[in-house]
Amino acid sequence: MTIRVGVIGTGTIGSDHVTRLSSQVVGSAVTAVFDVATERAQQIAAAVGAKAHASWEALVAADDVDAVLIASPGELHPDQAIACIRAGKPVLCEKPVATTVAGAIRVLEAEVAAGKRLVQIGFMRRYDAGYLDVKAAMTDGTIGEPLLAHAMHRNASVPDSFRGEMSMTDSVVHEFDTFRWLFDSEIAAVTVLAVKKSPLGSAELRDPQLVVLEMAGGEVVTVESFVNCQYGYDVRCEIVGSTGTVSLDNPRTTVVIGGAGRREHIPSDWRERFGPAYVHELQTWVNDLAAGQVTGPSTWDGYAATAIAEAAVQSYAKGQRVDIELVERPALYV
Ligand code: NAP
Repeated sequence: MTIRVGVIGTGTIGSDHVTRLSSQVVGSAVTAVFDVATERAQQIAAAVGAKAHASWEALVAADDVDAVLIASPGELHPDQAIACIRAGKPVLCEKPVATTVAGAIRVLEAEVAAGKRLVQIGFMRRYDAGYLDVKAAMTDGTIGEPLLAHAMHRNASVPDSFRGEMSMTDSVVHEFDTFRWLFDSEIAAVTVLAVKKSPLGSAELRDPQLVVLEMAGGEVVTVESFVNCQYGYDVRCEIVGSTGTVSLDNPRTTVVIGGAGRREHIPSDWRERFGPAYVHELQTWVNDLAAGQVTGPSTWDGYAATAIAEAAVQSYAKGQRVDIELVERPALYV
């Protein structure tokens, strides 16, 4: 059985996903694409034998599209995901499910009204081999009872248009989902602390920052966000348990020794670091669809991450701890 996928948005990650679904994932084919950048969409469609549609609505309605992957800008995600739900088509929606809590609730309500899970959110760290090992060590008793965690999320650089609060909505949003998933718990409160500013970022950019997450179960997570660290993409974490710790370093372990020094490779960006995780994410999604189910990160997970990001932006602006209030969790997501 081949799952025929339509991809909305063929920018950086959308075009990578088209390649993965066409040549790396077993059991899928890309039959349709849409992007407002018409020429690029046509080129990408031609390369994989897909049709470039004139609108995303036409792509969602197409008979030869069994499932949709949304990789357009975040503010478009609610309308596009809701159209897929109404058409009864499963959808893998890149994060965020919405850029506002109100938008996320609209998707939640549409899926609850449909009465079954159709939406998966693109939180690919849950499919990364390293994070899966961390999760196993936290749940199989290896480190005792998990108590706290330290994480870092560093990017080499960001464009001048990147504003400080985007560290929360675009970057640390991955940690919001990761630590909800690792601790199997909601986040009760968030505090964003300003740190001495790097002289190398744009004048507008407050960078680095320290984010403190208080989990509902009492565990505490510290996340360093540094989007202009210059040297590479460096995402790590350590979980401290009652009898041991588990830590996740960069995945390559090759060390070069020479010139009186020792060198280790640091990934250049998220595409390199999480490439295998994206393939695993898509393969699992396609396998699930062939089995008639959706099991990955849910609309609830997407809504919670957006609510935490919104609270983090408030904390960033006010310099204060902000409690996170979630709506009642619908039975569909229990
Ligand atoms: P991007 O490179 O800007 O690509 C977005 C594409 O969507 C662009 O080609 C854009 O065209 C197009 N677009 C604009 N309006 C559209 C519409 N109405 N319908 C369809 N397409 C439209 O951005 P990106 O980095 O690929 O990010 C896309 C999404 O993926 C974002 O939500 C982002 O947060 C998410 N993302 C997730 C991860 C992850 O790790 N899971 C990583 C990267 C990105 P124009 O350029 O002409 O506007």
